[in-house]
Amino acid sequence: MNLVDAIKSVFRKKIKTDDLLVAFDWVTKDVPMLYDLSVTTPPDNLAKQRTQTDPFKYGSPDTFGQDFKLDERCKSIIVWNVFSTVAFDYTYKNTFLPKIITYLNQKYSNEGYFFGYDDYTLNRKQFAIRSGAATLAKPSLAFHKKFGMNYKIDLIFTNAEFKDTVVIKDTPRYNNCIGCDAPCESKCPMSCKMDFDLVDWEKCSNFVDTPKAFEDLDSICRICQEACPYSEELTRQILNINPNYGGRIAV
Ligand code: SF4
Ligand code: SF4
Repeated sequence: MNLVDAIKSVFRKKIKTDDLLVAFDWVTKDVPMLYDLSVTTPPDNLAKQRTQTDPFKYGSPDTFGQDFKLDERCKSIIVWNVFSTVAFDYTYKNTFLPKIITYLNQKYSNEGYFFGYDDYTLNRKQFAIRSGAATLAKPSLAFHKKFGMNYKIDLIFTNAEFKDTVVIKDTPRYNNCIGCDAPCESKCPMSCKMDFDLVDWEKCSNFVDTPKAFEDLDSICRICQEACPYSEELTRQILNINPNYGGRIAV
């Protein structure tokens, strides 16, 4: 960073997370959508997202990277948590996220802030947990405090700093998993035992990440998510408010 940029950065005002809502609300105004935002800082040790192009049966579920790092100008990661009961991640990323980012870049360009996304390079649950929105549940899914396990996570990276950023440095576990008889595990058709880590990720992956499953998104296994009574209760409460929340949206 040169001296001029360094001086400018000292005088930039911090944003509140709620200031961003206008962008998200405008882009999603025509669809029934329930979401929240949380903000955190870049962690020292980034976990990369396992991708569908990973060769089945080998590789690793998360790789902690020497081969990638965040731009040093990135000060914050905005975590967009969207309630969803269906496989629909790529539509949020490809349809809504670019428009939201364009809106934010226009809104904040005069203040020297810019926004971008990683196209799903990084593991997203690490940011949901680090920003305090979620804790880690036994099937190695991030349990969101309002949406349970039925939600999608998208990320926006920015050089802006926030008044209400949250940094959870360890990986807290979801309280109700302690002492639970874990139907999320016992009902798994592949007998996966994740135990808060992706222990049996290959068994799951070979069942879930198949070309056939992606031809029929509704056939993708969600058994562990739907077996959790706490997650399902949150879903029931949300659908009581609006039964159209969380479905696949025509765009
Ligand atoms: S069913 Fe829910 S609370 Fe019980 S272990 Fe599984 S994720 Fe945790
Ligand atoms: S998604 Fe299905 S196969 Fe994978 S861990 Fe959950 S229940 Fe098991």
